[in-house]
Amino acid sequence: MRTVKCVGVVMCVCVVGVLLRAQPQVEPIWPGAKYDLAIPTIQEVLGHDTGMEITPPDQVGDYLQALAKAAPTRTRLVEYARSWENRPLWLMVIGSPERIAKLDEVKRDLQRLADPRGLSQGDADRLVKELPVVTWLIHGVHGNEISSSDAALFEAYHLLASQGDADIDLVLRDSLVLIDPMQNPDGRARFVFQNLQTRAASPDPTPYNAEHDEPWPGGRANHYLFDMNRDWFAQTQPETRGRITIGREYFPHVTVDLHEQSGDANYYFAPPADPVNPHITASQRQGWELFGRANGARFDQRGWAYFVREVFDAFYPGYGDSWPMFNGSIGMTYEQASARALSFARQDDTVMTYRDGVMRHANAAITTAITAARNREQLVRELLDYRRSAIAEGEKSTSREYILVPGQDPSRAEALARNLATQGIEVRRAEETFTVARREFPVGTYIVSQAQPAGRLVRNLLDPQTAQPADFIKRQEERRAKRLNDQIYDVTAWNLPMLFDVDLVTSGSAVNVRSTNVPMNYQAPLPMRTFAASKVAYLMPWGSAAAALAAEALPQGIRMHSVGGTFTLNGREFPLGTAVIRVAGNPADLHARLSALASKHGAEIVPTDTTYITAGTSLGSNDTAYLKAPRVLLVWDAPTSSLSAGWTRYTLERRYGQPVTIVRAASLARANFANFDVLVLPSGSYGTTINEAVLNRIKDWLRGGGTLITLAEATRWATGSGVGLLSTTGLLKDGRPDTDAPGAPGAAGAPGASGAGASGSGNATPAKPAEFDYDKAIQPDRERPASQPGAILRVRLETDHWLSAGHDGELFSMIEGNRVFAPLKLDNGRNVGRWFTKDRLIASGLIWPEAQDILVQKPYLMHQPLGQGHIIAFAEDANYRAYSEGTMLLFMNAVLLGPGY
Ligand SMILES: [Zn+2]
Repeated sequence: MRTVKCVGVVMCVCVVGVLLRAQPQVEPIWPGAKYDLAIPTIQEVLGHDTGMEITPPDQVGDYLQALAKAAPTRTRLVEYARSWENRPLWLMVIGSPERIAKLDEVKRDLQRLADPRGLSQGDADRLVKELPVVTWLIHGVHGNEISSSDAALFEAYHLLASQGDADIDLVLRDSLVLIDPMQNPDGRARFVFQNLQTRAASPDPTPYNAEHDEPWPGGRANHYLFDMNRDWFAQTQPETRGRITIGREYFPHVTVDLHEQSGDANYYFAPPADPVNPHITASQRQGWELFGRANGARFDQRGWAYFVREVFDAFYPGYGDSWPMFNGSIGMTYEQASARALSFARQDDTVMTYRDGVMRHANAAITTAITAARNREQLVRELLDYRRSAIAEGEKSTSREYILVPGQDPSRAEALARNLATQGIEVRRAEETFTVARREFPVGTYIVSQAQPAGRLVRNLLDPQTAQPADFIKRQEERRAKRLNDQIYDVTAWNLPMLFDVDLVTSGSAVNVRSTNVPMNYQAPLPMRTFAASKVAYLMPWGSAAAALAAEALPQGIRMHSVGGTFTLNGREFPLGTAVIRVAGNPADLHARLSALASKHGAEIVPTDTTYITAGTSLGSNDTAYLKAPRVLLVWDAPTSSLSAGWTRYTLERRYGQPVTIVRAASLARANFANFDVLVLPSGSYGTTINEAVLNRIKDWLRGGGTLITLAEATRWATGSGVGLLSTTGLLKDGRPDTDAPGAPGAAGAPGASGAGASGSGNATPAKPAEFDYDKAIQPDRERPASQPGAILRVRLETDHWLSAGHDGELFSMIEGNRVFAPLKLDNGRNVGRWFTKDRLIASGLIWPEAQDILVQKPYLMHQPLGQGHIIAFAEDANYRAYSEGTMLLFMNAVLLGPGY
């Protein structure tokens, strides 16, 4: 008989050898549990007991390794990715010794079940009978939502050490539990670092004390400050890519993403709030009920308060709980109130400890694993049915095939095809021209069939519109009329072809064309680009791949010019912005170097033995710009928006390989602007952070030839009358200028600022008193336009401007928030991009009706010269979530071409 012990009572704990704390007897985490002494406790390995310390990232790994060593036959510990800061991301697989021994075979069978095509009924039935149910417990994607990682360690311990517990025996026998303890180790490390620095001698529960109050940027995001709980289908971050790989290896039947919310809330678990994504099936909704009721029963048993069907929705497909759903999983988010330190004083006069949070999360997660095991056969069969019905739905759909058409910049269609393929969607590349509905499509067109097991993910990402229920929208309109916040949790649009600016055509029938499959793994190189050596020059039509090539080539000393107009050469028309790389003046091995760069980035290079054009702008024209490697300064830290600063830095450094110096806003006075060509202000509430002296130095630098780029709220700041960088203003809801300058037209208190229109004084005839208009009387005097939760609008681009290089005249941009600007007048600059006319304004998602009129034809992208330099101002964040490939190219045009033009 094996020895057993009880844990759950802790008397003291040491914190980094400094603090000593007495802990009163506490509630056991799992009452009645008896544990195998051979399995090491967290206390034994890490020196603190469960929930008594916020375990740092390296110790999370240490403990899992100790468990794997103590229970080698029932565990498999996998490092599934490395964070940007080189921390390992772990997955601990727990199951029966028989399954762990042949884990690769089990995974192959799970993958077979997930692709029912070619699976006989007999094989399907055998798989349903034999396969384990897979429960994927993923923790701490937001690094400052701390308790779930310590819960994960307890979950693993409990599953491996429990003795005489029939439920846990069932979990090990009938399931595989995949525990990802820490999805964001860099964010957690940032949290732990600042929390230890501010810690008092004994935990201070005051909610606003420094222990709970994180400095910019906080621990929520990863190294590039991405919210990785929005990144799943975008896969921009290595952490996300690792998780997508796990999702495609195991096809988990149940997925739980464990988070934290505000310290005063009660526990949340599924079923989620409205709106629910329309591609979630009835059986998945029943799954939410199954697990919701089981968790409810557990929490009732323990006397813990909770809520369901409120706040947290299931609409956006890039969450950690939703992306798995469109592969057939039952995905759920659990939210524990955050102590954001070791203790937290709640408004209900209780003190919540960190351990309280760990305990609740561990109970919900373990209850979920038990519930999954009890329903093994049903859950396994439902995933099979889900994948089968997705194919059947696709076969019947009027949009059975999605055709992605390479446009002016084919590299963006290629990037989109790879994005889809690496998340497990089958994508074919046409190797010959073909015709659908009398339209001919070129070689290199991509075809995505909806009739595939991932068909519902396909629809989510490629359908131009994903509808929210009408009654939900009606409720939001009612709330907004009372100036209550809407209940839309995230954006209402994410259509990838729009965001990549790739044309999409659908076909109701299968497209038969000779094609190759786009590789599904991240490591697959792009196809080789070969072209003949030239004696005179190489031409590179501009686009996303060309910009990435330029960003790498310019610092190597490869000289190139950008042609500021269209031209015809050797019978081919080249668009504005085409780069000319002359043999003369460039390194002798230019051909070899360009070949390697073109293959790496996917850019097209056209050799030419003449530069004599037959129409348009000459290649030696005065209307060409010499491109040199730009030296870029990016403003960082408060008061910038951490998301915007992070997306921008990522876009520069990682997407385009453009080096950038980041300077904290408070240190901007120390910057020597003369050493830089480009200054980028990400979105942020700048106020007076950039003082007059620094502002004057920026203006002098601009007059001398600098390129200033402002994004979103930084553009609003640049319009301020005290700033004076952009000769325009933001607009109020009623179209008046939004300026706070004292005495400025339309400013608060200025004549005519409220109640526009004549008062009718001087009329001798007494007017009949009008009926009091209550609804009108309660409208605020000054109000900004309605804030948009996130949609995609059409942008009209002026294609004769170099900022539009690589684009045709129409583009799509995310819009979020309430910025609307008056257009620049012709004597001040150009509105290179503006929102479309009303009939075609909204491309995807929801824009509040009264905001549509004021947005129409207002500037999206402004260009205002100042002396030898210029300001390039975006109304929105061009690098939004780094999945906005189309507008990211506009941003890179500003960076790469701005100093030259
Ligand atoms: Zn969270």
